[in-house]
Amino acid sequence: MRRKIINLLFAFFTVSSLISCSPNSSNSGFIGDEEWQGNWEGSEDIEDDPQIEIVCKQKCPVCGKCLDPDCTIDTEKCYDMNGRTKYEFLGSDKRVKVTAGNKGPLNQVANGGYIDNFNNNEGAEIEYTIIASEATTACMGATISMMPLAMSLTTTCETYVNGEKLLSNSQVKANLNWPYIPGTTTIPSPNEWYNFTEYFIGCVNLKEGENTIRIVNPNRGAYQFNFKSIEFLSSVPLELGNASGYVEHVCENHNADGLCTDYDCNELVCLNKDETDWTHEKLTLDAKEDYVLKFDDNNENIYNATPGEECIGYLDSYNSNQTIIWSFNATEETYVRLSLEHSGGLGHGSPYIDTWNLFFNDEQFTTGALAKCNDDANKWNYSLYGHSTIAYVKAKPGKNTFKMVHNSTTGYNIRSLDIYNQKGELSPAQAEK
Ligand SMILES: [Zn+2]
Ligand SMILES: [Zn+2]
Ligand SMILES: [Zn+2]
Repeated sequence: MRRKIINLLFAFFTVSSLISCSPNSSNSGFIGDEEWQGNWEGSEDIEDDPQIEIVCKQKCPVCGKCLDPDCTIDTEKCYDMNGRTKYEFLGSDKRVKVTAGNKGPLNQVANGGYIDNFNNNEGAEIEYTIIASEATTACMGATISMMPLAMSLTTTCETYVNGEKLLSNSQVKANLNWPYIPGTTTIPSPNEWYNFTEYFIGCVNLKEGENTIRIVNPNRGAYQFNFKSIEFLSSVPLELGNASGYVEHVCENHNADGLCTDYDCNELVCLNKDETDWTHEKLTLDAKEDYVLKFDDNNENIYNATPGEECIGYLDSYNSNQTIIWSFNATEETYVRLSLEHSGGLGHGSPYIDTWNLFFNDEQFTTGALAKCNDDANKWNYSLYGHSTIAYVKAKPGKNTFKMVHNSTTGYNIRSLDIYNQKGELSPAQAEK
């Protein structure tokens, strides 16, 4: 249930006490220099009623117009469309540059569009390049998650446009669905992290060409938010520039069906590979079996056998180098596809390499694969399981080992690993440290 509140941060009341100058005089609230016309008596005297004047606190520092959607005093808003076009630039776009803070890397969650792990991550930064076709003043907005306290890009974070710090009183309201009381240990419903709300910050001046927008998380211990996007209402065309220097991989080995035939490439766009000539058999290694090793710095076995759980879990709570080692025998050299069975969770939808360091036969490898077992990346769902491809690797005859070492505080529950082979036979093997 959502309750409506009057947020005293946003509006304050000034009370004009209308004190009579003499017992016979009255003032009905007119401001002017009209002369006093005569004596009023009795019931018409309203001298004891204070006049309440509500003053809107959320004014754009540039245009002076209102930024508060709940404010009814001001009919003209800074964010009125006025023939402008709305542009939204998602934080998950690879051309947005993200910089890790002291709580680890920022995850650009493609399926959902947002950036995860921004909260409480001192030093973390999000940087956009926005290209304007000509100089303009645009109304800037952002979409962030509603937190227990009112939040904005300019309160617990700092936002700079071309090096100039933005100052704005505009905020996303406190989220009363989230029964978290600062200073208590009440555990909030995790889905409230994805209760995203758009708000408008105010006018910003954009120059012709490239503009740099930086959102900086300056401190730990303050409350931030999940960040989703910045928006502009602009009368000139805007586009997203490439702040990160991202180069999109183009597959040069796809067949007539659009399937990639380069089994050594694990770029995201190349993970849909041609397996028509493969054996169509798979080996499943179940995490509960003793031949799979799962341990961390403190425990030799981190499998959770509790009925209803049956998984390697709690990966998102902390990083203690949780390590899973899966081994199998191959009868001959063959390419294999590694497909992990995992739940939705914190880190769902983000690249595998943001959550794990991955090794095959002791060699670390990289992959563009996203840990995405279901479509609903906006929700943590630890009970919904599915498979997602991690990578294609080349197995040698004999024993092969795939090792995952946790490198973050994101994660999901893990149940098994499916291994699909191009040729030959596969069988489970005892993993060893
Ligand atoms: Zn207002
Ligand atoms: Zn404005
Ligand atoms: Zn390819």
